[in-house]
Amino acid sequence: MVRPRLLWHESGVTERPKRTHGPARSLRGHLLLLAALLLLPALMVGTLLAAELAARLKADAEEILATNARAGALAVGRELESTVLLLGALGTSPHLDRGAEGLEAFHRQAREAVAPLESFAVFARREEPSRQLVNTRLPFGAALPTMLENGATYEALRTGRPAFRPPQQLPMIEQELASIAVPVRRGGEVVGSLALPIQPARLAALLRQPTSSLGSMAFILASPDVPVASLSLRGGTVPAPVPAGFSAQIGARMRGILRGPGPGGQIMLMAFERVPVSDWIVVLAATREEERRVWLDPALNSAALVLLLILVLAGIAGWVIHHLMRPLWGLTHGAGRLPAGGVRVAEFEALAEAVVDAQNAPLREAEAARRAADANLILARDAENDRLLLRSIVQSAPEAIFVKDTELRYVLVNPVLIRIRGSTEEALLGRTDTELMSAELADNFNQSDRVILAGGGVQEYETTVAFPGHPHEARTYLTVKAPWTDAAGKIAGIVAVAHDVTQRRATEARLRDAEEAMRRISRADTLAAMSLGVAHELNQPLTATANFLRAGMRWLQGEQPDAQRILAAREAMQEAAAQALRAGEILRRLRDFIGRGETEQHLVSLGPLVADGVALVSAARGALPLPITLDLAVSGCMVMADEVQLQQVFVNLLRNAIEATEGLAERGLTVTLRREGRQAVLRFADAGPGLPAEVMERLFQPFVTTKEAGMGIGLSICRAIIEAHGGQIDANPRAGGGTVIRIALPLAEAMLAA
Ligand code: ADP
Repeated sequence: MVRPRLLWHESGVTERPKRTHGPARSLRGHLLLLAALLLLPALMVGTLLAAELAARLKADAEEILATNARAGALAVGRELESTVLLLGALGTSPHLDRGAEGLEAFHRQAREAVAPLESFAVFARREEPSRQLVNTRLPFGAALPTMLENGATYEALRTGRPAFRPPQQLPMIEQELASIAVPVRRGGEVVGSLALPIQPARLAALLRQPTSSLGSMAFILASPDVPVASLSLRGGTVPAPVPAGFSAQIGARMRGILRGPGPGGQIMLMAFERVPVSDWIVVLAATREEERRVWLDPALNSAALVLLLILVLAGIAGWVIHHLMRPLWGLTHGAGRLPAGGVRVAEFEALAEAVVDAQNAPLREAEAARRAADANLILARDAENDRLLLRSIVQSAPEAIFVKDTELRYVLVNPVLIRIRGSTEEALLGRTDTELMSAELADNFNQSDRVILAGGGVQEYETTVAFPGHPHEARTYLTVKAPWTDAAGKIAGIVAVAHDVTQRRATEARLRDAEEAMRRISRADTLAAMSLGVAHELNQPLTATANFLRAGMRWLQGEQPDAQRILAAREAMQEAAAQALRAGEILRRLRDFIGRGETEQHLVSLGPLVADGVALVSAARGALPLPITLDLAVSGCMVMADEVQLQQVFVNLLRNAIEATEGLAERGLTVTLRREGRQAVLRFADAGPGLPAEVMERLFQPFVTTKEAGMGIGLSICRAIIEAHGGQIDANPRAGGGTVIRIALPLAEAMLAA
């Protein structure tokens, strides 16, 4: 029986997870998030690096610009300072202290001193600052222009310190010139001023840098917002003046960086540096283009590179995500099928198998369920079929069938039994034999039933009984009783099949009668044959008897039979008597054979029968005349036979063997009994002279004898008896001399089985 399985518990079903938050993010979402999380720091780091680089580049650029501005300021400062020093040194000239004639000498002296500066010196006294006393540009004594009131001379006289003036239009000079004036002191008092105009181009040339990667314009500015000199470092035109308010932005700072409208109004990066000695300022300006070239472009390039790198990484991440998602999409939308090619992912492949398995699982379950249902149906059908089959066998069996429980109550009876009992199913079921029949009969049945219940196994019983179904005749039943065991192997009762063998037994009896009749007939045939022989045999002694009697009569005829004739007559009479006795002997033997009368075959054990025969012969002769070896060690060689007849056979054979070996020095007889197939085989092997060839051919025919007093019917009788028992007899020469008479008889078990 199939035990129902508790499928829910044994299949390990997991509960569906409960959703506590909103819908789950898709795998793509997770992967994008992961990519973003990984890329974001890279982006940030890249941006920071780019910004850092830009800042560094910018700082470097500004540093370069500031350094260049400082270099320019120093150069201008050195120029101004050396000029101030030169003028200061000239101002100490003693020529100035000697009146008008001294001035001419001073003119000469000053002109030589300032010649390297490609300029000229102008001297004026404090009392009359507007009047030039010495001007080395013009010959001494020539008419000299008036001194500008806003010029450097006035300022130096006023302040008592060196004065620096941006370019001004000087009288009698075509171009605008910047001026430097230093006070001339005597005894600590300012007594005059020495001035030196300077070409702006000369100052501007000081700003030219040998190599300058940044800064295309340079200019010198005199506060407030008055240009002193300017220079285009990259060629081109001289820039327009600086926008107003520029110096205000610089304020009091010594140096610095400014971004704003530069010369020409365009936005520029400007580095400024105050020129030592003066209050002038050197400014170095770089355009946006320069800035872009020097630091902005590299910074932007590196930022772009970082961006590009991140874009590439993002692209790779996107590609990977896309190719990861494709098989997953195939899994979720393609019924567990992974698309061909693309990225192979072990987990997805396992998932695909799991999905296919899961998809197939219900089919498999359904198939298994269907098979189980089919099997159950078949089982049920089989069980029903078996039940019906058993029922129809039991119902239609020609034998009486019944089943009893351990209390010997009938639990199943078939129609044949019901009919025999002359009863009904209802009357029999649930009852015991004790309740149903006479105590004596019931006891008989109960006894055999209990043997089965006690574990006696299968048993056969033959009972002749007159049941109510056949009230007027006793019938014989061969009943096979067997234990009825339940599924646990315990005896639950008995099953019995009773076969009505009445007919068979009657037939067997009739057959036996017929066989006996046949045997008698065959014996009669034998007798007919024998009687001919016997007649022939008897004829001889009888003829001899008659002849002897006739001769005796002749010897006794006459008046005076002499003693010799009487003796001859007596001998003839004796011979006649002997012949008569011989005839009588023949007849006696015949009577012995015929006189056995009705015989019946029984189960006979051959071994003991042979042993009995030997004992019989030795008893008849007083002692055994030859050593006989019996090899009869075969138990259960049972045959159906007439013991007396077989004994006759054995005695005949023993006697023949004894007679054949008579007078021989070495004699002996061995009798063996063997089972050979379905036969019991006896061999009488003697160590005699063997059979003559002429005897051999007709050995078993009647009246074949080599003996003087032999009748020659012994072996023919033996053959008749053995063949009447369904056996064979034959004779063969024995290896080493002698004769072997072989008798084969069917074993009783073989006969029964047949
Ligand atoms: P009987 O003994 O009267 O001659 P049997 O029919 O018994 O008649 O035997 C027939 C003949 O077979 C015997 O005369 C004998 O010549 C021969 N014979 C029988 N048994 C033997 C034997 N064991 N050895 C030799 N010859 C035998």
